[in-house]
Amino acid sequence: MNLSPAARAVFVELLVHGPLSRAEVARRLELSPSVLTKLTRPLLAEGFLVEEPGPAGVPGRPSVPLRVEPARRAYAGVKLTDSELFAVRTDLGGAVTAEVRLPLEGHEVGRVVGRIAEAVALLPGDEPPAAVGVSLAGPVSRADALVRHSPFLGWREVPLAGLVTAATGLPAVLENDVRALTAAVHWFGAAAGRGTFALVTIGEGLGCGIVVDDRLLVGTAGVSGQIGHLAIDDRGPICERGHRGCARAYLASPSIRRTARAALDRPSLTFEQALDLARRGDPVARRIFDEAGLALGRIVATIANLIGPEVVVLSGEAVHMHEVCEAAFEAALGEHTHWTSEPVEVRVQPFAFTEWARGAAVVALRHDLGVA
Ligand SMILES: [Zn+2]
Repeated sequence: MNLSPAARAVFVELLVHGPLSRAEVARRLELSPSVLTKLTRPLLAEGFLVEEPGPAGVPGRPSVPLRVEPARRAYAGVKLTDSELFAVRTDLGGAVTAEVRLPLEGHEVGRVVGRIAEAVALLPGDEPPAAVGVSLAGPVSRADALVRHSPFLGWREVPLAGLVTAATGLPAVLENDVRALTAAVHWFGAAAGRGTFALVTIGEGLGCGIVVDDRLLVGTAGVSGQIGHLAIDDRGPICERGHRGCARAYLASPSIRRTARAALDRPSLTFEQALDLARRGDPVARRIFDEAGLALGRIVATIANLIGPEVVVLSGEAVHMHEVCEAAFEAALGEHTHWTSEPVEVRVQPFAFTEWARGAAVVALRHDLGVA
């Protein structure tokens, strides 16, 4: 979309907070009614905005709510893992309308790009998506057209955005997977409309996305929010990088599985089985998840102390463990929050694996709108 900065601000306000009356949008953005009318007219004419007249509403009046028409445009989002890709199609409102999952046969760049194009083509929809977002773990950001380094794919300096555009004929944008998910949470998730917040993901790895004053923190070289190996307790378990008692060693699902297998002498125990044992009161499993909860509370308190967020959102594949370790989490959050502050509001956003791909689609949407 080709939007002026002022029209973009109006559109995003309605996308994230709408429906809103013209009068309310004008108030929020400090615009005069005549300027707002001028800004919304072309968006209404092109069908990106629609009026929602109530029983007494008269079209064109300042009190009639405006909203974004979600079906007006679609986006594709692709999340790459080392063994498969997940692709979704979303509407302009970030709602998933179709999804596809394809295995990757090896990591050779040309074949992965071919798979991405195949997945995008398989997503059903009336019109092609306006843009494609691709997300993956590691140091990559929207400002880059290339993947600098992807340890899990074994890639260095791969110009993925250009290759995806060549293969699909669509604008393509790359983003780190946690940051892409943060973008979705910022506009359409548990922190929708909040200006300053953090997202913490727990699962195979630990991730942290940070939004300050409505801007997604990218960091130098596409690296920010690296909470994975924060020191928690130097008497704790050891992570695969050799740190004693780091965040990963306490919290990542593979670490919990490893600790539980050793402590319970059950070499084939899964993460979910360990979680179930804790839920049913097994004292050994309980202790492992309580320690994970303490680590998580300490991490969230540390982030809150640093950035002063309105809310911290927890998500990721293993976020359902929060209910099992909630008491320990709350205790540590209270203990490590700065004594002059109240503990931050924490929201748990339930997770499905397609959320990663949805995040990539929201990055494509933001790219299309020209939002940083
Ligand atoms: Zn570590």
